[in-house]
Order: sequence, then C-alpha cells, then structure tokens
Amino acid sequence: MSTEVWVGTAGETGAGETDARRSSDANANANADGVDLHLHSHHSDGVLAPAQVVDLAAKASVRLLALTDHDTVAGLEETRAQCNARGITTVPGVELSAAWHAQTVHVLGFDFDPANPALQKYLTDVQVQRRERLREIARRLDRKRIAGVQHSATELVAEIEASQTVITRTHLARALVAAGAARSIGEAFKRFLGRGAPGHVGSTYPSLASAVECLKAAGGVAVLAHPLRYTLSAGARRKMLEEFRAAGGSGIEVVCGNARAHVDGLVQLARRFGLDGSVGSDFHDPQIPWNPPGRLAKLPASVSPVWRHFRLPN
Ligand SMILES: [Zn+2]
Ligand SMILES: [Zn+2]
Repeated sequence: MSTEVWVGTAGETGAGETDARRSSDANANANADGVDLHLHSHHSDGVLAPAQVVDLAAKASVRLLALTDHDTVAGLEETRAQCNARGITTVPGVELSAAWHAQTVHVLGFDFDPANPALQKYLTDVQVQRRERLREIARRLDRKRIAGVQHSATELVAEIEASQTVITRTHLARALVAAGAARSIGEAFKRFLGRGAPGHVGSTYPSLASAVECLKAAGGVAVLAHPLRYTLSAGARRKMLEEFRAAGGSGIEVVCGNARAHVDGLVQLARRFGLDGSVGSDFHDPQIPWNPPGRLAKLPASVSPVWRHFRLPN
C-alpha cells in the first residue's frame, strides 16, 4: 500500500467471536522479546496520547519501545516521561514519509537527536507537503461534490488542520466516515482517496536515500517499515532494499504487527541484504483488534536485532 493506510482488512476479526481466542493468542505471544518499535499516537494518525500508548505497552510487558509517529517528534517527551514512570526503556523514534520512484515508503528512525536541524527541516517540509496535498484532495472532491454531506471536504480538511500538526489522509477518511460519506475508513479510501479514486493525489516526498541520510546525520538508525506493504514487484523490492542498504539503512521490519505468515520471507530478505531485523506492531487505535501494542512474535535468531545499535543504558 502506498501511504499511511494502516487499516488492514476491516472486519477481518468478526465481532464478539474472538475475545477469548484473542486473549489466549495474546498471552501465548505477549512480550516474546519485550520489544515494540512501531507505535503511533494522536500526534500523527493514532488516536491515543503517548502516555496511554505507553500504558498499553506496559500491560503487554514491553520493556523497550519507540513511539514512531508519522513525520513528527512531538510525542517523544511525553513518551520518555511515561516510560520512565513505568520502568520501560525508550529511544527516540519517528516514521518518515519518503519516495522510492513513484512509491511512497516509510522509513523508521530510532535513537537519533530529535533536535537535529536536518531532521527538523525534513519534518517541516513533509508536514507542509501533507497539508498542501490534503487541500488539493479536498478541492478535487469538492469539484465532484462527492462529500455530499453537510460540510465540504475543504471544510473537513480545515477542521483537521486546526487540531493536528501532522495531517494524514487517514484523518480525512475518518472525517468522511463521521460525515456519513463512507461506512468505514477502508471504504473512504477506496471511493474517495485511493489510487483511481476521484480524490487521489500523488505525494511528493523526499527520496528514500535522503530520509536515510537525514536519520544518520541525526545520529540515528534507519529501518524500512513493513517491506511487503508496498505495491512493488519482487524484483523492484529487492532493488529498493539494495539502494536502502547502500544509502546506509540498517534494518527492515521483520515482525510487523500480526503478519506472522511473512516473517520467514522477511528474514530471508534481511539476510540477503545484510540488514538487521526490527519488531513493531504499527499500533494506531485500540478499536483495531489485530495489532495491539507489544503482542508480537519473537524476532527469529537467524537475524540480528536492530536494537543492538541503540545506545541503551546497561
Ligand atoms: Zn507505515
Ligand atoms: Zn506506522
């Protein structure tokens, strides 16, 4: 998938069916490594405050975590304070939007200096691009009069901008659902925002290599998020990983949320390109049942953990 579409297949877990099964799965797999290095708060397109995210991770016995909001470091201070209170180790984290050819890709950064000027500029530039893109999407939707509800899409976007520093298409999708224009976030993307839909506007993010270089300049470690979620052929994916490695990337996400079926293939990719492995839930919303914080499979021993690069207290 090309963007911040994290909603997965809505309805995958039937209502009511699986509370018992889910909690037993969760217990079986909870805190395998005690690590969750991919979590979102309301500073980007998550719904909880950073301290609430940390509390949920603490309940799942996470011992090392990183908050990785899209294109902002605004939640890191609160995360650090709450992690201190909970006895959890944390490093600064972020999920940068970048482009590899026409494909939007996500680069996780860890253990960097959040005040680094190059990183700050990257974040500001992308935040501006996101605002411009969402305004253009709204103009296109309004021309087609698709919102078809009380407020124009432009008004919905203005409301989102008033409350958020980092605005994402997921925010607009949620607003379209709340306005009655779609039944679910997935449907809002399909009908209005996704590729081929009337409100689709391509992104103009900095290159993958520049995202990696920026994180490294800030003293951090770069990890390619959810490598199988991009619309790429296997050959193009390998080429992307080669370039990512050459630019100084350190690892890929090997354990991503509950996508356990893909772990073996991702281990092979990591080994082929000499990359370390990361582990993250990509948690956004407690209402989404399939990727709660910290309920993650163990990183296979055949791949080195990317957190070996972190400057952690002994
Ligand atoms: Zn992502
Ligand atoms: Zn994410």
